[in-house]
Amino acid sequence: MFKPALRTLRPARQLASPALRNLHASAVTRGVQEITRPAIETPVSLWNFTEEEEMLRESVRRFATDVIGPKVRQMDESEVMDPEIIQGLFDNGLMGIETSADHSGSECSFTSAIIAVEELAKVDPSVAVMCDVHNTLVNTVIRLYGNKEIQDKWLPDLATNKVGSFCLSEPNAGSDAFGLQTTAKKDGDHYILNGSKAWISNSGEADTFLVFANVDPSKGYKGITCFIMSKDQGVQIAKKEAKLGIRASSTCVLSFDDVRLPKENIVGEIGKGYKIAIEILNEGRIGIAAQMIGLAQGAFDNAVGYSYQRKQFGKLIGDFQSMGHQFAQAAIKIEAARLLTYNAARLKEEGRPFTKEAAMAKYYASVIAQEVSGQAIEWAGGVGFTRDLPLEKLWRDSKIGAIYEGTSNIQLETIAKLIRKDYVS
Ligand SMILES: Cc1cc2nc3c(=O)[nH]c(=O)nc-3n(C[C@H](O)[C@H](O)[C@H](O)COP(=O)(O)OP(=O)(O)OC[C@H]3O[C@@H](n4cnc5c(N)ncnc54)[C@H](O)[C@@H]3O)c2cc1C
Repeated sequence: MFKPALRTLRPARQLASPALRNLHASAVTRGVQEITRPAIETPVSLWNFTEEEEMLRESVRRFATDVIGPKVRQMDESEVMDPEIIQGLFDNGLMGIETSADHSGSECSFTSAIIAVEELAKVDPSVAVMCDVHNTLVNTVIRLYGNKEIQDKWLPDLATNKVGSFCLSEPNAGSDAFGLQTTAKKDGDHYILNGSKAWISNSGEADTFLVFANVDPSKGYKGITCFIMSKDQGVQIAKKEAKLGIRASSTCVLSFDDVRLPKENIVGEIGKGYKIAIEILNEGRIGIAAQMIGLAQGAFDNAVGYSYQRKQFGKLIGDFQSMGHQFAQAAIKIEAARLLTYNAARLKEEGRPFTKEAAMAKYYASVIAQEVSGQAIEWAGGVGFTRDLPLEKLWRDSKIGAIYEGTSNIQLETIAKLIRKDYVS
């Protein structure tokens, strides 16, 4: 029987610790960014985790292997997330990882969320993205930008029983997300939403939606405002996409047709939705990087394990030098991507700038996830090409890392712009 993970852990309450009160003088705070881990005087390796984070990794690993593992193939083929898996995420405290205990959450660190996503992705990147979007995008927007009424009303359900979606992209607004056309017209104390959203993860299962809409298109992106709503307030699913990978993760087109929302459903300030989206996607990208390193490690473990069981020419195939050297090169790449990811997470927790590092982590982790999962198929030979092993699925799943939460070109743009700033005044 699987032991519930986070529910049994001591709440972290890190903000009250003396170490945090004596933050390193060089830590830089930006906007509403939280500081949840002190910058340290004595450097330690990026493989240093708190006891709580270590326990979390172990328990998520067991949940992924024992509970999700047996259902992965069936969920991929039916293109549906098993409701028992979603319930398992809630029961194990994985849908409110950073949410405070007062709001029924697990009150753990951002790194804990990254670890959870990584461990889930080793077994099923579809489950990982559900947990990632729900935690690093939806919960975090409400925690950081929602007022007390919004937090009290929405966070407890999101931590215990309701799935959330983050609705920014539209058919005509992808990389150029701030060209969005969904409008929210003021009508007394209400706003009337009209428009459509595209590519919305979790939307097939979700009950809570963060929707970005423009209250004043004449102001361009400065009219973009974030609203929160439940499904029964008027979210319509227009189409479910049939995808190459992460098939058990629902991705839908949504439409909003004269949806009437009270002004109390605005999250943050009117016209500041673009800022919320930029800041939240910066940290969300670290979650996608974690998904990709988990995926790469899952493919690696599976194929290398196989290579030390299969014999050809009277020898284990993993013992051929050319195989071993390929394993070594792949392991180096996974480790490099992991360190980029953990470092970006640490920078975020220390309240220091992390946009460039998050973009680097996401870009590189998605490159190596495609590369390693593709190689892993070859290492297993013919059987790697079949559905008897999870490798072909992981390879299909890996493609998404270069697309969502900013394509690889967009990550390179971000990195290049920040490099330029260092050289041009
Ligand atoms: C499975 C899936 C789940 C998703 N989940 C969500 C979600 O939950 N919420 C949400 O809001 N969105 C979600 N998205 C949307 C996702 O973020 C967008 O698909 C992504 O930002 C790219 O936008 P696009 O598809 O319109 O591609 P486009 O923007 O049309 O890009 C097409 C190509 O043009 C390139 N390109 C575009 N502009 C530039 C530029 N300035 N410089 C260089 N190259 C450029 C891109 O790199 C890409 O190669 C999801 C998408 C998918 C596929």
